[in-house]
Amino acid sequence: MLGLMQDWPLLCHKIIDYAAEQHGHREIVSRSVEGPIHRINYIEARIRARKVAQALERDGIKLGDRVGTLAWNTWRHLEAWYGITGLGAVYHTLNPRLFPEQLAYIVNHAEDRMIMTDLTFVPLLEKLQEHFKTVERYIILTDKEHMPETNLPGAIAYEEWVGGCDGDFEWREFDENTACGMCYTSGTTGNPKGVLYSHRSNVLHAISVSVPNVLNLGTGDTILPVVPMFHANSWSLAFSAPMAGAALVMPGAKMDGESIYELLETERVTFTAAVPTIWMMLLQYLESSGKELPYLERVAIGGSACPRSMIEKFEVNYGVQVMHAWGMTEMSPIGSTCAMKPENRDLDLQARLDLQATQGYAPFTVEMKITDDDDVDLPWDGKTFGRLKVRGPGVSRSYFKGEGGEILDKDGFFDTGDVATIDPLGYMNITDRAKDVIKSGGEWISSIDLENLAVGHPEVAEAAVIGIHHPKWDERPLLVIVRKPGTSPTKEDILAYMDGKIASWWMPDDVAFVDEIPHTATGKIQKITLRDQFKDYRLPTSDAAE
Ligand code: ADP
Repeated sequence: MLGLMQDWPLLCHKIIDYAAEQHGHREIVSRSVEGPIHRINYIEARIRARKVAQALERDGIKLGDRVGTLAWNTWRHLEAWYGITGLGAVYHTLNPRLFPEQLAYIVNHAEDRMIMTDLTFVPLLEKLQEHFKTVERYIILTDKEHMPETNLPGAIAYEEWVGGCDGDFEWREFDENTACGMCYTSGTTGNPKGVLYSHRSNVLHAISVSVPNVLNLGTGDTILPVVPMFHANSWSLAFSAPMAGAALVMPGAKMDGESIYELLETERVTFTAAVPTIWMMLLQYLESSGKELPYLERVAIGGSACPRSMIEKFEVNYGVQVMHAWGMTEMSPIGSTCAMKPENRDLDLQARLDLQATQGYAPFTVEMKITDDDDVDLPWDGKTFGRLKVRGPGVSRSYFKGEGGEILDKDGFFDTGDVATIDPLGYMNITDRAKDVIKSGGEWISSIDLENLAVGHPEVAEAAVIGIHHPKWDERPLLVIVRKPGTSPTKEDILAYMDGKIASWWMPDDVAFVDEIPHTATGKIQKITLRDQFKDYRLPTSDAAE
């Protein structure tokens, strides 16, 4: 027997409708790429999104067609997403930090028919466009006055393009499982693979991450997504913020410490989200300028492990609650956040910080397990680590066009490629990416734990740990350090700081100092390049072992 409730498909554009109807005067404030601060509200954004849908339809874009967006977080980018999805087309975010060949690969693989882009990326696209096989025209996210001279086919200023439309457009209705958005994984090995979100997965994911246990979003919030919309589906904020009736502050192209601080302050932001590298820059700015954060209440930090010292600084020095989050493009993307459970209510500060350095527990809609290599479930004892696997309505079941083949195990779980422990209360702790873990004498050393410890040293700006071949132990850890400007810590200083805080056999065999650590397109330490850089490195302990 079926229930007798209404069939109301979970479609993404219903989110902008809801925001316009119930929270219409809440603002979307953007630092425009042209320079000035720009303000609209959800009522205006909905009308403009409908104009986008009309303009797309006029250009022949149909249900299921992919429209690329190569753009910063601004009101225009947000409207474009809703306009695209409201027509039944698919937004495809392009990450400008990818190598040009990778960009060409994904545009062709996705078969984008159109690209919407910011002024910033016009020169890049001019160089690449001859390699794009399916792109028919380019919409430049600006107005006529700022429109550059360009030879991009069909190029037109966005404001001019939507200018002829009246916004009188009925959103299309279709099955909630219809494709809605697309984001390629950054492809640290092999070609990037396309993750294809559906309307249903985006809506369910946005609902499940808005609740108090996860991001705790509400109408009283002013949300600054520093995380770009092109990084892993904007961490859902393009959907969950309007759904919560929260105001949005979009940072545009400027993400340095001072620019972010300025927005946090002038717009009285209560919640923000980004990868640790961004917060490293903000904290450095705060420390050098002596500024405070009187309005900010919560910061979500994820994408790579958030060092305990960063959590401590935010909480103790600035009174900002850190929500350590873990996830991946394939998971829409949030898979867990570290919020407290009543069992942890009485923890003292140090114990709470230890807990917050874990990636926390899964929200409703994410099932989690750890297994050994033979797919046997491992216990949730906080000690045993294994392959972290996930299942749920916001988790990929396949990559676009079947790339990579079958990606689920026999029970329908997706292997995240991460190695983790889970404690009896469900708190998950990432040990490492499976391919980055250091295998020393048959045991594993977590590169993440060592990195997080080393950056706690007051003179260390950034730390990375890689395994270096060792004749006796197979691999041993090498700690690579970028010093803070104006400081000169030695190998001995850093090892002395780490000594006693980890098992002695985890201590790095050597410390190398560099000016810069390479990063991926999403701001993570690029271990592949680093390993390549140090491929001929010989550890001092190797000589003794031979
Ligand atoms: P990209 O590599 O393109 O940024 P993702 O954002 O999908 O792609 O990366 C997901 C991976 O990032 C996870 O599998 C995990 O290894 C890592 N990651 C994300 N958040 C965290 C976190 N809080 N702690 C440790 N690792 C994390």
